[in-house]
Amino acid sequence: MAGYGCETCPVPDPTCYLDHAATTPLRPEARAAMLPWLGERFGNPSGAHRVARGARQAVDESRDAVAEVVGCRPGEVVFTSGGTEADNLAVAGSLAARPGGVLCSAVEHEAVLRAVTRAGGRTVPVDADGAVDLEALERLVGPDAALVSVMVANNEVGTVQPVAEVADVVRRRAPRAAVHADAVQAAAWLDLPDRLAGTHLVSLSSHKVGGPQGVGALVARRGMPLRAVAVGGGQERELRSGTHDVAGIVGFAAALRVVAATRAETAARVAAQRDRLGDALAAAIPGLVETGAPRDRRLPGTLHVCIPGVESEALLFLLDEAGLCASAASACASGAQQASHVLAAMGVAPGLASGALRLTLGWSTADADVDRAARVVPAAVARLREAAA
Ligand code: PLP
Repeated sequence: MAGYGCETCPVPDPTCYLDHAATTPLRPEARAAMLPWLGERFGNPSGAHRVARGARQAVDESRDAVAEVVGCRPGEVVFTSGGTEADNLAVAGSLAARPGGVLCSAVEHEAVLRAVTRAGGRTVPVDADGAVDLEALERLVGPDAALVSVMVANNEVGTVQPVAEVADVVRRRAPRAAVHADAVQAAAWLDLPDRLAGTHLVSLSSHKVGGPQGVGALVARRGMPLRAVAVGGGQERELRSGTHDVAGIVGFAAALRVVAATRAETAARVAAQRDRLGDALAAAIPGLVETGAPRDRRLPGTLHVCIPGVESEALLFLLDEAGLCASAASACASGAQQASHVLAAMGVAPGLASGALRLTLGWSTADADVDRAARVVPAAVARLREAAA
């Protein structure tokens, strides 16, 4: 099955897939690593016999790989069912172990935002680029704070957050507090050890880096007080009970290894594609506004735009009809378009936000995808504007 213009891409012709922030196609290396664990190899890693030991070894090797990419000790990696569980464990699990105030940025993913709201926490405003307002953080974070959560990069507009500066403020104002970084979107693009200085907890998700869905990890640095949210067999240092998804974990690690080995080259290629698409759309669509931080402070694959006079839902429908997969905001369970809390927090006017379009490129994006989107999006916008005139 040849991909659209890309030799190794599993996305079938004639689909033009520009929704990598929602999920990425499985990398061939991840698939190859998983296949034995969906066939002749199996075993419960918690068991005591040779089959179990084989599975445990596979999980341990995967743990080593994740730790190397993140820049932590293998014993600090807790495998979970994905980014959502990692975020929930970080917030609820750290507050259960050490109660206190909790803050997060106003543009966090719902997995953090809702966990923080449930714990009675507060949000820290962002600026018009979607970056955390450090002065506001300084005012809001008090000595009673137990946790501050900030994403490394935003899933809608791609803005990269000043995590090290956030950690500095927290260290000064609330030395007792931990810093949680949701690196789910950043992991495919940024050098994590470099970005995670000063953090105590880090969330990762496999399917955003070319691995399988339904697996991820929470990195909990040594000494970080953390209590399990769900109880059971006591796997993962008693922090995440449940039989391991060995195939998923092995695929996740394989994807992360490829990401680490190819990151610089992929980021440069995709950023150039993203810039070319952004320039083409800006030239072809009057009034289009590119959202988020300047391109060099955004994830390389993210192009978020707001198009006046167009409703996202109608635009996405036309794009889908033309074979182009995109989105307006983050994917939610119903598939329905909801008002974006990210754009609202950035102060984007509701009239403009209703014409939001998120195009996210990734490892499998070919130049032909960019050419096609540069044709299809302006044509769909023109059709909608003509119909509305
Ligand atoms: N955090 C961020 C920033 C995300 O973008 C997502 C998914 O879109 C998640 C967390 C949730 O990850 P998962 O889909 O693995 O539960």
